[in-house]
This record gives sequence, C-alpha cells and structure tokens, in this order.
Amino acid sequence: MEAEQPGTSSGSSVSVNIDNDLADEDFLLNDEAAEIARLQLPEENQQPQEKLDPQEEDERIAKIDFRCSACDMHELVHYFGRQPPFALGIKYREDTFVMRDPFQPPPSRWQSKPEFYVAMGANCSSCSKVVCKDAACSFYYTRTVCLPCGKAELKDWPVEAQARLRKQIAALDGDKDK
Ligand SMILES: [Zn+2]
Ligand SMILES: [Zn+2]
Repeated sequence: MEAEQPGTSSGSSVSVNIDNDLADEDFLLNDEAAEIARLQLPEENQQPQEKLDPQEEDERIAKIDFRCSACDMHELVHYFGRQPPFALGIKYREDTFVMRDPFQPPPSRWQSKPEFYVAMGANCSSCSKVVCKDAACSFYYTRTVCLPCGKAELKDWPVEAQARLRKQIAALDGDKDK
C-alpha cells in the first residue's frame, strides 16, 4: 500500500489533475478497510456474549469464602456441596469446597466434558471447622476430620484408618525434622 501523501487526502474538494487517479484509489482502499473494520467489530463484540449468558458467566466467578482453620489458607471457591455442576459425574460423600481450574478456558456450551476442578477442603466431621486437604490440616477416611479431632478419635477407628493416620502424622513429623 502506498504511503499517504499530504495533499491527496480524500476530504479535499479541490481536484488535482495528475494525482486524481491515485487519490481515488487511495480513497477506495481506505474505504474498503473501514468497511471491513465495520463488519468485524460488532462480530467480535458479540462473540463472548454468545458463549456465556450473564448467569453462566456469573457461575465462573468464585464467591464462596474458603479459609482453612488450621493453616489459614484463604481462597475464593466456586462451589460448596456434594455435586458440583461443572464436575460432571462427581458426587462427594460430604459437602466439599470446590474451585474451578482458573487456568482452563471456559468450555463451549455444547461440550459435556467435565472441567478441571480442585477440591479445596471440607468441614471437619467432628468439630465442623473448615479444613483444607493438606496433610498437615486434615485426614480423610470416608469423611474429613481435622488433625486434632483425628488424633483424639484415632483409637475408635478401624485399624486401617488408624494405620493411615499414624502414617500421615509420621510423615509430617519427618518433614519437620528436615
Ligand atoms: Zn490447611
Ligand atoms: Zn475437628
């Protein structure tokens, strides 16, 4: 494309004999470019709205406060309950704080693939404090317990659960020594 010459601007009503053809062509090209821009702009603006209606978009905003009572980890999560609608086929045995994968683009509406998601934590089934999934904060065996409750209740549990919690605590103590 030719560089724009001052004086051949299409807005000028004075016709310049020699440059007239060039000016016309220049004007045409500019007009065409403007036309394409006009056609493309609304389309680009509409696309995100077509993919996500306001309600769906709202679901993508994490609003539920999750704070682990043991390590103080704080996150906003998307869901608290047993069956997150975005994790198809998943049903937890207890109410669980679930976060959608923040790095995954929104799935297409017609796509029935489950999204990636992260179970962040749950309430301790004994004292109902919120705890995260970190080994230092909670233990899971058919239900979530915080570690203090776990240690207190340990003796009443099935042998397998006792062994697993003892192993978890031993691993944590090992980490501290390093
Ligand atoms: Zn924690
Ligand atoms: Zn507890």
